[in-house]
Amino acid sequence: MANEFVYAQPVKIWFGEGQFARLGEILDELQLKRCVIACGRHFAPEAEALMEKLDAVCAVFGEVEANPQLSGIAETARLAREHEADAVIGIGGGSSLDTAKFAAAIARGEGEAEEYYRSTRPFPAERLSMIAVPTTAGTGSEVTQVSVVSHGKEKKTINNPVFMPRVAIVDPLLSASVPPRTTMNTGLDALAHALEGYWSRNHQPISDLMAIEAVRIILANLETAYRDGGNREARSRMAYAALLGGLSFALPKTAASHACSYPLSEDYHLPHGEACAFTLDSLVRINADERLEYLCRAVGLKDTEELAARIRALKELGGLRCRLSELGEVDLDKLCRDCAAHPLMNNNPVKMDEAKLREMFEALA
Ligand code: NAD
Repeated sequence: MANEFVYAQPVKIWFGEGQFARLGEILDELQLKRCVIACGRHFAPEAEALMEKLDAVCAVFGEVEANPQLSGIAETARLAREHEADAVIGIGGGSSLDTAKFAAAIARGEGEAEEYYRSTRPFPAERLSMIAVPTTAGTGSEVTQVSVVSHGKEKKTINNPVFMPRVAIVDPLLSASVPPRTTMNTGLDALAHALEGYWSRNHQPISDLMAIEAVRIILANLETAYRDGGNREARSRMAYAALLGGLSFALPKTAASHACSYPLSEDYHLPHGEACAFTLDSLVRINADERLEYLCRAVGLKDTEELAARIRALKELGGLRCRLSELGEVDLDKLCRDCAAHPLMNNNPVKMDEAKLREMFEALA
């Protein structure tokens, strides 16, 4: 165990079925009077209806797409300026939350969104409040200071305290409509957060506890949530586990499976969760050590081999791609080079250089 660590978690969390219906009350409590909502098309009608229902909601940007573009962030920030907003509410998966986080951080600034994205202008000292309403049980973005943004084909993770939400409203009922494949992708993303937070070189004891609990809950509930999306118990447990997953990697940060997910998403167009899951079972085997064996026993598994097999079985159940041959024509040299160069790779407990990555990917041929 680490003898020294710093633990902080500044987000106030409202969790439970029906919490989203209390949005008006929560905005009153926070004294927020002018809010802009950022969401995808699925929640756009509901967001428009909120504008009618709540005086504090004054505008909606309802076109956030998966792998959110900087242009959507610029438009959300423009609406916030136009309406002199005091908060941005993100409703949706990680894409909507990350859009709202970035827009809230820059709305009070003078510059263009691209200047902040390229770090050619510092973030303004003042920012709007950000309210995160996750709907996919995956990213944990509601409790992290990360915003993942795409600009054209480039996808960038920006880690900055200015992105930390003020409040998270985690209402499992909102995830009931997530389609099965997205349920599997996002559930495995949450599992990757917990495992990577746990095996990160910067892991720490409080985060470890949450990681173990998240792994236990996900292994017990993801299959049910996938097979029976209307199962409220499974959805509720998954929403809680995704929140714990977010908390467990927020400080230690993720490692090799997330590092590999970037080239896999950018060049082979795997959705984020599927891209993380692609290497997760391989990395369980590569990273197997006494600590990981302890986690396995703590969640009721025999050993790391059983954990790797469970992950592979979930991927196959969800119809996720498991082999390189399923990705089309793969440039293995470039894939290994790009994965090795990603900064998160340095967090992996086992050194993953290009040769080691090649060995891992060749076993997935
Ligand atoms: P997403 O936000 O891209 O959503 C996936 C799809 O599901 C979209 O089409 C969306 O409209 C739809 N959807 C969302 N909620 C729904 C619901 N309740 N019912 C029906 N459809 C619904 O997917 P995601 O996996 O949640 O987020 C992925 C993004 O988050 C990626 O860009 C990833 O890099 C990023 N991410 C961010 C963090 C962070 O800490 N900021 C962490 C992990 C991942």
